[in-house]
Amino acid sequence: QEIGDRPEEWLGRIHPDDRGEVEAWIAAHLNGRNAHFEGEYRMLHKDGAYRWVISRGLAVRIKDGQAYRMAGSQTDITARKKAEEQLLYDAFHDALTGLPNRALFMDRLQHVISASQRRAGSLYAVLFLDMDRFKIINDSLGHSVGDQLLIAVGRKLVDCIRPGDTVARLGGDEFAVLLENVSELVHATEVAERVHKKLAAPLDIKGTEIFTSVSIGIAVGEDRYERPEQVLRDADIAMYEAKARGNSCYEVFDTTMHANILDRLQLEADLRGAVDHKELILFYQPIIDLNTQELTGFEALVRWHHPKRGLIYPLEFIPLAEENGLIHPIGEWILHEACVGLKTLQDRHPARPPLRMSINISGKQFTQQDLVGKLAGFLRETGVDPATLALEITESMIMENVEAAVETMNRLRDMGIHLHIDDFGTGYSSLSYLHRFPVNALKIDRSFIKKLSADGANKEIILSIISLAKSLNFEVIAEGVEMEHQLSRIKEMHCAYGQGFLFAHPMGIQDIDAWLKGRKMQA
Ligand code: C2E
Ligand code: CA
Ligand code: CA
Repeated sequence: QEIGDRPEEWLGRIHPDDRGEVEAWIAAHLNGRNAHFEGEYRMLHKDGAYRWVISRGLAVRIKDGQAYRMAGSQTDITARKKAEEQLLYDAFHDALTGLPNRALFMDRLQHVISASQRRAGSLYAVLFLDMDRFKIINDSLGHSVGDQLLIAVGRKLVDCIRPGDTVARLGGDEFAVLLENVSELVHATEVAERVHKKLAAPLDIKGTEIFTSVSIGIAVGEDRYERPEQVLRDADIAMYEAKARGNSCYEVFDTTMHANILDRLQLEADLRGAVDHKELILFYQPIIDLNTQELTGFEALVRWHHPKRGLIYPLEFIPLAEENGLIHPIGEWILHEACVGLKTLQDRHPARPPLRMSINISGKQFTQQDLVGKLAGFLRETGVDPATLALEITESMIMENVEAAVETMNRLRDMGIHLHIDDFGTGYSSLSYLHRFPVNALKIDRSFIKKLSADGANKEIILSIISLAKSLNFEVIAEGVEMEHQLSRIKEMHCAYGQGFLFAHPMGIQDIDAWLKGRKMQA
């Protein structure tokens, strides 16, 4: 009753942006081009808001075909339109953080690339960000804390950019930033520095203070880029280099990085054959009882005798092997070889108590199902007493999956095998868990020993590790003892065992006899 029957009552309520289109549809029906009228458009409601409607109608004509009125229906489809918009939004946004997702990021990057091809001199840059140690935080504090952390980091990133730029979550703990209209490279590195500064303060997640950082790779727009994947890939490569330098670093992509990647790929290909071609060797570094100066045993350290490159150290290929899964066959070979080596050494050098062997285990290996079974097999085969064997694991390895790690640790303890925590003091702190772990010894990381000066400065951390170990009934082994004054300091602090270049470098099994003879002569 509130609306009259003049056309303007209808047409006047149509959204100005839609009215032209609706009039065209009506005209097309009236002049016979369309059999009926149909369309979706927005109508002004009495409450002042626009509603989406779908309208269907048919002209009612007098005998000569002249239309004199329109009959039909109009349905409110606002809810459906909202749902469609939501679907469209969802398709291009990350549900957790609400940030643009990979699809939208790639779409915007494509536009920017096309624009820069049309207009020379319009620069852009992509930052690829990957959170450091996210998995550890996620696994140890729970996924809901992890989710909150991702949301908080997303917000901080948005604070670091200008309105026209884009922050997206690519997935997992990876984010990307698209900077448009950067006139110089420094603008991109400034954003990276801003991000690092912003994340330096702890985040308050559900009452817990969490420190987090990101590694950032930067790719600056260049003519050779045609597709968004190329830019993102280079930023990703640069991120990888940044991560290799430690937490909270950034790197700008340059083409030598491609060469590095190719190098890595070659090394990886070579590594696949290393076990079969018997190119791996174990070196053994003596561990000394600091009270008696006696040799107590060895740490097995792997090396790769590469046919072209010579001796390659584990830090260069173990991380690679962990990434591509080769750590399983390699780790198995190390376990077996170390058991064989230990048996040989014990037979050659009978001692009371018998010589011991420490073997480094990587995280992937430690949580592997059949580690314990395999090890039991090797012990049986070689006849080595399990109580003379120790596995070295790191704090962060345990923290990655505490439950699984504790289970494996308990099974190893039940077999009589010892467990040492390697590089103690450098990992993600697990002090509150430590008493739950069936551990026999802590190895003080060599960075702490290195900082020990002749006048005894910097000994507090070592002292507290030693007293912590004492209260938990763990032994302590100092790593990286290189100088006499370091030895005197750690002896003063009642550290029981030591290892380092001062006593011996890691050596091949064939050199151990000569080293022992030399020691006897000195004594
Ligand atoms: P790590 O377990 O902390 O091993 C000790 C490293 O310190 C060894 O380096 C050793 O050669 C070195 N080192 C020993 N004494 C001194 C010293 O007085 N001064 C200094 N500056 N360094 C000393 P390496 O052999 O290059 O091994 C590096 C890392 O690679 C090891 O650190 C360990 O995490 C890993 N690794 C070595 N062998 C294996 C293995 O068989 N399996 C696994 N999963 N990882 C291994
Ligand atoms: Ca070790
Ligand atoms: Ca160590």
